Amino acid sequence: MKYSTIKEKIDLIKSKKISLVENVKFFLARIEEKKKLNAFNFVFEQDAISRAIEIEKKIISGKHGRLAGAVVAIKDVLALKNYPLTCSSKILRNFYSIYTATAVQKLIDEDAIIIGKTNCDEFAMGSSNENSYFGIVLNPYDESRVPGGSSGGSAVAVAADLCDFSIGTDTGGSIRQPAAFCGLFGLKPTYGRVSRYGLTAFASSFDTIGPFAKNIDDIALVLNVISGKDSKDSTSVNYPVPDYIEALNEKKKFRIGLPKEYFTEGLDNEIKIAIDNQIEKLSLEGHQIEEVSLPMTEYTIATYYILTTAEASSNLARYDGARYGYRSENSTNLEDMYLNSRSEGFGSEVKRRIMLGTYVLSSGYYDAYYRKAQKVRRLIKEDFDKVFNKVDLLITPTTPTVAFKIGEKYENPLEMYLSDIYTTSANLAGIPAINIPIAKNKDGLPIGMQVIAQQFSEEKLISFSTNFKY
Ligand code: GLN
Repeated sequence: MKYSTIKEKIDLIKSKKISLVENVKFFLARIEEKKKLNAFNFVFEQDAISRAIEIEKKIISGKHGRLAGAVVAIKDVLALKNYPLTCSSKILRNFYSIYTATAVQKLIDEDAIIIGKTNCDEFAMGSSNENSYFGIVLNPYDESRVPGGSSGGSAVAVAADLCDFSIGTDTGGSIRQPAAFCGLFGLKPTYGRVSRYGLTAFASSFDTIGPFAKNIDDIALVLNVISGKDSKDSTSVNYPVPDYIEALNEKKKFRIGLPKEYFTEGLDNEIKIAIDNQIEKLSLEGHQIEEVSLPMTEYTIATYYILTTAEASSNLARYDGARYGYRSENSTNLEDMYLNSRSEGFGSEVKRRIMLGTYVLSSGYYDAYYRKAQKVRRLIKEDFDKVFNKVDLLITPTTPTVAFKIGEKYENPLEMYLSDIYTTSANLAGIPAINIPIAKNKDGLPIGMQVIAQQFSEEKLISFSTNFKY
């Protein structure tokens, strides 16, 4: 590739040093060549080429959007009008969107080229991309390993050079964890920063949309484009969006907290050493580092899996075989039609979550589980509020291990859930966090570091990330 950022690419097209059409054809050929990785559910060859012809002209004439010609892959949980929206589920395998998600529309309006929709865990439930109706996704660093999930296809699309950047979603770590496993920057914004309109709901009070890229400049640019209030999503917040590009030039020294609960047993030693090395460097460069405590950390996984399954059980009630999506043909009455459509249409992880969620919401258990978890969620948020009075940023590992083997955790859901141990807290608290790729382990597998900030402080994450340019 002759460029390393979207900005450079636009300049090269403008000066006719590269042809956008050729560039799009290059990506299409790579996608074909890397088909085995299974990163895409759908590829839009013809549309991508026609868009490239149109946008190349715009760039040369100087009248183009901020993402002109940038090739993007979109997680298949986001709506794009007249295109399939499957959420990697059998239940939606023949469903076409009737409108476009706001975040996706904003990319289109800035002249990005959508090359296809990426594979993911069914309804974004999973940490390994093994729960997909379209099959598992392979990690390009080692094809016997998972890419992480649920946005595994989006991560692989960038890591394997199948596009310039991609969009994923993060409900409990689904951008940061695959970014860590695939050696990428992946940013989960503050809840409410990016409109969720057109994102298929998993757990509505946790879901966020964000970018994957190989460099922080592209993350800043894409975040500029997709952020902001949207009248179609009442949870999007009317709060000023700073220019994240400016944050790239700020050379600040930060006060950084290391939450001691995130560096205990269970953390892979090579990951610990890699983070220790970075911390030492940061300290030498003048950042102020101190140990802090987030005492509620031990309750995050339990709280996350009670609340998200509760929300999922309610959100997924709409897939009943009656209105849209898969309908079982083997039913003689209405009740059977519901039962069979859902039994045949959903995969086993989704069913597990619906059952868990229905249980924690059922009368007699609601107070013991759901209501209690809501209270704990508040306490987790208060933990963060307290530490952010003292420090600007928190550094933690993103994942307890590097990318694990395909099949390694599939039969053991609890172990799978524990791979989200460091990421779910940011979703419980609604705060932004990023994965920064910092090293490779002895087998050449990527190691990620998570940086967390207070609500609406994405610019701090971006400015801090410039310390990790390669
Ligand atoms: N792995 C987590 C889960 O299975 C997170 C998923 C996500 O962020 N969408 O719920």
